[in-house]
Amino acid sequence: LVRLTDVNKHFGELHVLNNINLTVSQGEVVVVIGPSGSGKSTLCRAINRLETIDSGTIEVDGRVLPEEGKALAQLRADVGMVFQSFNLFAHKTVLQNVTLGPIKVKKMRSAEAKELAMTLLRRVGVDSQANKMPAQLSGGQQQRVAIARALAMHPKVMLFDEPTSALDPEMITEVLDVMVGLATEGMTMIVVTHEMGFARKAADRVVFMSDGQVLEEAEPEQFFTAPSSDRARDFLSKIL
Ligand code: ATP
Ligand code: MG
Repeated sequence: LVRLTDVNKHFGELHVLNNINLTVSQGEVVVVIGPSGSGKSTLCRAINRLETIDSGTIEVDGRVLPEEGKALAQLRADVGMVFQSFNLFAHKTVLQNVTLGPIKVKKMRSAEAKELAMTLLRRVGVDSQANKMPAQLSGGQQQRVAIARALAMHPKVMLFDEPTSALDPEMITEVLDVMVGLATEGMTMIVVTHEMGFARKAADRVVFMSDGQVLEEAEPEQFFTAPSSDRARDFLSKIL
């Protein structure tokens, strides 16, 4: 469903994505981990075309990521993204945050969009907050709204870039539970996280990045118990 082939990206001298090859199949949950600065966020942003690449190709659902224009907007609708920092529209209600995409991009009627939004808000457990402004919600609630907002576009794949790392501990679980639920329902997911409990529970595969390269790919159990590179071993000893 998502395929990166020989993807390279530089920021000046920095080779931030170094010949990345990565394939994520339909329904697969891939957890990406690695040290700070290893290129995990850049990888996510490249898949959503928030970041250009220097060479290589990125395909989503068999289509090469277009440069710009209408085709890009359409393709982006297929790729939901949830970031570390809560990036809801601050001046819109929770409900409006979720209905905006379907109405603007998918030309859905307002009543239908509202119904869809309420269903999704209920699913992530924040339907009672629908008429509040984002700032009135806890971080965990905001992140669940962000997930509902992404789901409202019926994405084919969901990207999560450290969705819980800005949250207080007691709110992490409520967000991870929603993500585990999505994974169980068969959503294709690429998740950057250091939550190893989530990786163990939900991931089909763990991808370890270091210095812009994919150093290891393995099933969670194998990766956590017997990482094959020194880098990965060293990294795991610091976070586990
Ligand atoms: P973290 O775990 O801290 O989130 P990361 O693995 O997500 O790290 P990236 O955010 O992808 O890492 O950044 C990779 C490298 O690219 C870092 O050295 C960062 O400083 C650099 N970088 C990221 N964005 C830019 C940019 N817009 N311009 C220049 N350098 C950048
Ligand atoms: Mg990052």
